[in-house]
Amino acid sequence: MAVTEIFGSMVFNDQVMVERLPQAIYREFKRCCVDNKPLPLEIANVIATTMKDWAIEKGVTHFTHWFQPMTGITAEKHDSFIAPTTNGGVIMEFNGKELIKGEPDASSFPSGGLRATFEARGYTAWDPTSYAFIKDGVLCIPTAFCSYNGEALDKKTPLLRSMEAIDKQTTRLLRILGRKTEHVYPCVGPEQEYFLIDNEVFKKRKDLQYTGRTLFGARPPKGQELDDHYFGAITPRVVKYMKDLDEELWRLGIFAKTKHNEVAPAQHELAPIFTTTNIACDHNQLTMEIMKKVAYRYGMTCLLHEKPFAGVNGSGKHNNFSLMTNFGHNLFDPGKSVEGSAQFLLFISAMVAAVDKHQDLLRLCVATAGNENRLGGDEAPPAIISMYLGDELTGILQAVADGRTYSKRAKCNVEIGVHVLPKFAMDTADRNRTSPFAFTGNKFEFRMPGSSQSIAGINIVLNTIVADQVQEFADILENAENKNEAIKSIITDTMKKHGRIIFNGNNYSEEWVEEANKRGLLNLKATIDALPYFSSDENIALFERQKVLTETELRSRTEILIEEYCKIKNIEAMTMLDMAKREILPAVSKYEKHLAETAVKLQEIGVKNAVKVKLIEKLADLYEDATNKIDTLDSTMDKAHKLGTGLEAGCYYRDAVLPAMAELRAVCDEMELNTAEKYWPLPSYGDLLYSVTD
Ligand code: ADP
Ligand code: MG
Repeated sequence: MAVTEIFGSMVFNDQVMVERLPQAIYREFKRCCVDNKPLPLEIANVIATTMKDWAIEKGVTHFTHWFQPMTGITAEKHDSFIAPTTNGGVIMEFNGKELIKGEPDASSFPSGGLRATFEARGYTAWDPTSYAFIKDGVLCIPTAFCSYNGEALDKKTPLLRSMEAIDKQTTRLLRILGRKTEHVYPCVGPEQEYFLIDNEVFKKRKDLQYTGRTLFGARPPKGQELDDHYFGAITPRVVKYMKDLDEELWRLGIFAKTKHNEVAPAQHELAPIFTTTNIACDHNQLTMEIMKKVAYRYGMTCLLHEKPFAGVNGSGKHNNFSLMTNFGHNLFDPGKSVEGSAQFLLFISAMVAAVDKHQDLLRLCVATAGNENRLGGDEAPPAIISMYLGDELTGILQAVADGRTYSKRAKCNVEIGVHVLPKFAMDTADRNRTSPFAFTGNKFEFRMPGSSQSIAGINIVLNTIVADQVQEFADILENAENKNEAIKSIITDTMKKHGRIIFNGNNYSEEWVEEANKRGLLNLKATIDALPYFSSDENIALFERQKVLTETELRSRTEILIEEYCKIKNIEAMTMLDMAKREILPAVSKYEKHLAETAVKLQEIGVKNAVKVKLIEKLADLYEDATNKIDTLDSTMDKAHKLGTGLEAGCYYRDAVLPAMAELRAVCDEMELNTAEKYWPLPSYGDLLYSVTD
């Protein structure tokens, strides 16, 4: 089948709706979507019946309200369409009420104390701006998930609220500037990195199975130093996998576009074409799920963890962000007119101010247990938030602020309201790949998010901080008599107060850490350092002002995030102890026994064996060292368990458990390097990273 036929074939999209719905119903439906109004029941009833008939034609028997609880993955509970008839048979039924609202018993999802168990039932509500689709023979209805008091229990509800906030404020600002804009939509293109390894090696590693990453493993003789994997030829099995994956995604209307090998061996990337944020978010959740499912078909496991292997690249998810008007104009597009130039610089200034003011939020929205292992190491941005604008755009902003001519290549003026922006270069060659937050021509690329994260949390933060900043600018401009003068003074003010966030140099260097410190930028290295900021007074005020999260919701979310961190670290530490005690030490003993027996036998026939004895002694020392490290980790875990899963426990994990884990790993990795391969109980890094070669 042609791609154009496959694409969206499992989606109840506009094309299907136009074909099947009465025109008036379709028109009313679209109006509700654009204006964010609830759908009248009569309309929902017609849509539900049409949707059901369409799904049944495709062999569907069940439907589900597909939602995104705080676990970061998606949840679904299937109900069949059947309804009994009076003569003992069944008919297939699905009405508007069922489409709009569902009531899953969701008492086991994390709610951070928001929902007492006696009131366990929340409700799910259809997000009609994201199409229904068929997955594994089930009609999935993308929904938001709330408690009966209306508190958000998921990631989707605040995401939709934040999109409303940014729409409201940016539209308002554009109207003040004389535009006819009706709506502004945040858009995202999330680039997804992942690893593929063979199932056989995966099955032999408890750490990968329980935690998604390796907790032990000596460096292989060959890693990524030759840069021979990046954009390299893709192996046949992976080619077939990627083709199959693309087709599955296309069926679901997901714009899978670019695929290539990444920097580390066994690492790959998939980038979709960008789309409206809530849809991009749904699509990314589906993409991650389907990546794993399809890998299984090819005897492989898809690892989405941020740092499956120490010492080689981790996996990120670059969040490419822009703002698009209902007329299709991208607000980060420099533009070619005098008014366009002023507006562009104003929005860039809003980004500069927002990123500088809210470093804490940008840092904490990427602070997870997994990403902690990635940030700051092997080609990943450090924990310090800064922004890359490139020398030319920075120069232009500075020139406006200083009221002087901008001169780089050619002298030119950029007086607001008088001049068009000079063409500035954003050529790929000097695009800074080390910046955590980079302007890349017509969008901002946030490179800190981890590969396994839902992009909802990240975009809730982005939308909210930008909405708040734009609101501040709109307030100033609304009352300004001379708009151009006001824009100029906003830019001047922004550069003065927030210019420190702009850094166009190498973010991976040691000097930057020092320089950032001098500039007073935040450097929250550990996940647990960042998370408590979520419910600081300033952030409560911000999220309430923008009507995205209430204080109660924020506090419950902070609690959930800290709890999740502690639980993951607990699983990792317990897995390490299990593997060290029950797999690694017994294997080393066995090898020592073999060495000792050989040494005795050699002696019997009169051969000198000082080297063997030395190795036995070395392993015996390491063994003892490992036993001590196990004891230390064991006792730290006893204390951690007593502390529970709150902030105090989180800090204890950071200060005591993580160092104890690192020490145990170091000695075990040393033992690996000194133990014969056939005695070592785990597939080595080499076995894992080069497991898919056919
Ligand atoms: P690179 O790896 O060089 O950053 P890719 O092509 O892999 O580039 O990814 C770029 C991503 O940015 C794609 O997902 C693309 O759809 C997205 N993108 C492009 N333009 C925009 C835009 N205006 N808004 C949001 N995302 C965009
Ligand atoms: Mg990129």
